[in-house]
Amino acid sequence: MLPNYQNFRRDFLIIFVAAFFLVFSDFLAILWMGLISKFPRPLIQHLLQTLGFLFLLRSVFTRQIFFIWLLVLFFFSFLQWICLSYYGSYLSPMMIFLFFRDFREVIESGNSAGAQLIKPFLMGAIGLIIWNYSYLRNKVLPDSHPWLKGKIQSSVRALILFSILYPIPRTYLTGHTFGKQAKVQELSSVNFYGATSYFLGKILPAKISSSLWAHSSELSQGGSHPPSVSLLVGETHPQRHVIFILGESLGLRHLQLFGYDYETTPELLSLHKQNMLMFRRGVSGGVSTDVSIPMLIQATHGPEASTQVATQEHCLFKLAKRNGFQTAFISVQTQENLQHIINFFCNTELDYFTVGDNSKTIHGESAILDEELLNEAQKLSWDKPQFVLFHQRGSHSPYEMRYPPSEALRTVEKTDSWVTQNIKHYDNSIKYTDKNIAKLISWIRSQTKLPVEVVFTSDHGELLGEDQQWGHVILHPVAAEVPVLYSPSNAPEAFHFREIFSQQGEWVSHQFVSHFLIHLMGYNLLSEYPEENKNYFVMGADLDGLGGFMHVTPQGHGLVRVKE
Ligand SMILES: [Zn+2]
Repeated sequence: MLPNYQNFRRDFLIIFVAAFFLVFSDFLAILWMGLISKFPRPLIQHLLQTLGFLFLLRSVFTRQIFFIWLLVLFFFSFLQWICLSYYGSYLSPMMIFLFFRDFREVIESGNSAGAQLIKPFLMGAIGLIIWNYSYLRNKVLPDSHPWLKGKIQSSVRALILFSILYPIPRTYLTGHTFGKQAKVQELSSVNFYGATSYFLGKILPAKISSSLWAHSSELSQGGSHPPSVSLLVGETHPQRHVIFILGESLGLRHLQLFGYDYETTPELLSLHKQNMLMFRRGVSGGVSTDVSIPMLIQATHGPEASTQVATQEHCLFKLAKRNGFQTAFISVQTQENLQHIINFFCNTELDYFTVGDNSKTIHGESAILDEELLNEAQKLSWDKPQFVLFHQRGSHSPYEMRYPPSEALRTVEKTDSWVTQNIKHYDNSIKYTDKNIAKLISWIRSQTKLPVEVVFTSDHGELLGEDQQWGHVILHPVAAEVPVLYSPSNAPEAFHFREIFSQQGEWVSHQFVSHFLIHLMGYNLLSEYPEENKNYFVMGADLDGLGGFMHVTPQGHGLVRVKE
């Protein structure tokens, strides 16, 4: 029998229209919600990927089944838009878990957020109308036969179903991380599929076996319970800037400020001598960027962090916005570096957002220097209160890429060993960070009449050969050692903040940093500080705790692991 060319042509048309519809509805929904800069849409890539998948589907399924597939894909996108418009983040596997655990709460919070949900609902309704229309139109037309025949067709059909289900047992058996964190530049429907498969393959089995379902896991019994913060507004719309500078891979042990032999932090030391800088040793919430930044932004620390991160209750940008601040996130790290992290910010609460250009990389590593942050700061208006998070690339490896050669403190010799070279490069990157922090603080203070309160910490520390280990992500106490700095303004009310900071013991947690920022934004701080519990919980590579954790405690000027 000759192929039916008319049907063939019509199928092509339907597939093209459907692909355009799926990709552009995702683009329009995210554009409409004002989130396109944080969740970029590589349209051509999305189109090709969707076209390929739809062609495959149509070649093995009848037209009716094909339309059901389209509806499912559209529904996946639609659920993601609801999530984006409410939380400013893609659905995470942990949110699916919470949805089932706290079903009622989710519904209730959904009701209170009715206004925010209007856009995705409208978008969804328009989509459904179009889908229905084309479905009805096509239903009256004869169904063309799929192009592949017989055994091939059923094998491909089985293969599609197999590949769709395959990630679930793969995640369960091998610990594969597909879907663990949504990628900001991915199609909404694909992110939905990823999160669901990770939830089914990892979170659900883990929660069932550890019975966290009933709020009582071994994790939380063994973990520290950091103080909670009161969200009562103490000061309405405080007239000050709150600046949070976030370092990268900056440990404590190579800072002159904390007793290192080389002059790596002359500027910070000079600020300290002028009574303009206070500092403490800090414990990071996790040992990897992807874990500790979401925790800092959501003001949480400890075994239940992923729950807090998913609900975004204490999101710093949200709290700042609610108390009259303009909010900004400025990073020199690239979209690529941040693809898993941006999703954990309450993006709908961000007024200004900029990250490093993906194209400015050398061998896949960002070549943007931290001084770029100062150029970006000039784009903000400094006459109204701002809460700004300046995010550095700091001292991330390869260390030699993190400072201009002219700024070197220690000359790296060709005859130096690999270890010495790396340590010298690392020290040089700190000297450059020292200069950038001081420049940024003094520039902002020169631009505004309002008091400027500045807090600095690093996302985690860095191992530089301790126990023959390098880098971070490893559950080693040194990877959790970070500096915590506070540069107070000269305003009378800053004496209160100075007092709070000076009341702290030698060590503070990352959660103290978040709470201190929230306090600077005008919220009351419950006086459970200084932290009495000197056993700190540090999360491994996974926000849900499934990638391990450790307890650390101060000993001398460093942290040591507490035997479990
Ligand atoms: Zn990091």
